[in-house]
Amino acid sequence: MRISNILQENKVHFSFEFFPPKTEEASHTLFETISELSPMQPSFVSVTYGAGGSTNELTQNLVIRLKRETPLNVVAHITAIGASREEIKSQLESYAAAGVRNVLALRGDPPKGSTSFTPTSDGFRYAAEMVAFIKKHFPHFGVSVAGFPEGHPETPNRLQEMDYLKAKVDAGADCICTQLFFDNHDFYDFCERCELAGIKVPIIAGIMPVASLHGLKRMSELALGARIPAKLLRAVLRAQSGEAIEKIGIHWATEQVFDLYDHNVSGIHFYTLNHSTATLKIYETLGMSLGETWHAPTPHKSKNQPG
Ligand SMILES: Cc1cc2nc3c(=O)[nH]c(=O)nc-3n(C[C@H](O)[C@H](O)[C@H](O)COP(=O)(O)OP(=O)(O)OC[C@H]3O[C@@H](n4cnc5c(N)ncnc54)[C@H](O)[C@@H]3O)c2cc1C
Repeated sequence: MRISNILQENKVHFSFEFFPPKTEEASHTLFETISELSPMQPSFVSVTYGAGGSTNELTQNLVIRLKRETPLNVVAHITAIGASREEIKSQLESYAAAGVRNVLALRGDPPKGSTSFTPTSDGFRYAAEMVAFIKKHFPHFGVSVAGFPEGHPETPNRLQEMDYLKAKVDAGADCICTQLFFDNHDFYDFCERCELAGIKVPIIAGIMPVASLHGLKRMSELALGARIPAKLLRAVLRAQSGEAIEKIGIHWATEQVFDLYDHNVSGIHFYTLNHSTATLKIYETLGMSLGETWHAPTPHKSKNQPG
């Protein structure tokens, strides 16, 4: 089932992002995490693709394994960087054969150490081109794309950026999943700008609880452009221990989730980093028991619209 159809069910949709583990031990941890998070009944889980197309095989193996061995809806991230059309087609064929029906189509980030990229001679320069290619050859696939509430660093012109996002939707994307953000106002403003641009697909909010000072620094490197509110930074810098920082991160993310929920968000996507603790704590604080479906209150506004 396409993610956009799943999101139509009137409940709060949670989903989780995982990255493909590189060792046996890391794989064990991931599968433990998955079994701990599964009772939250995620609407889907997604599997990342390494920067510069570096985890092709690992990503495919994990996606297909999750599809075969779990009841989870799996979304495979697929990136254009470093890949030819044939390579992308062949990945999609493997997914289609395994019964995977959803992908997150991304331009991708250049590998570590480089800041720019040149597409392969018959590759794609932008995600919109890849979305059109996927819809042409695999029309039954659900295709999600990335959105950037605080803007993508390569396009300082925010109006133009919305045109590029709209181009991905016009090419066939039926869902947007956002970059992580720490201030919900950025997300609500983004949703309003999408509305003004005529983008009507569901928008899933990306949430990542801060786990450490190092993690926070790393986040602002990876999620380029993600603004760290001074209030959050001050609390993290004031904390006396790793445990205290973790608590601050969970508290901050829980407040974000409560507020998003009150604004009738289409879905909340947790960047889990393959760990369950923070996500489970947030879920618990929301007052949920595992295995319970959390129904949305009567919507006071259409989905995506800020309150
Ligand atoms: C939810 C999510 C998951 C992600 N998962 C991964 C992952 O698994 N692996 C990974 O490597 N990266 C991942 N990323 C990061 C993403 O690949 C990078 O942020 C990348 O720089 C942008 O990807 P995109 O798909 O938005 O690209 P695009 O939509 O192609 O946009 C890239 C840049 O080009 C601009 N642009 C678009 N079209 C045009 C045009 N026609 N002319 C001029 N400029 C244009 C855009 O405004 C933007 O600045 C993820 C990001 C998000 C939000």
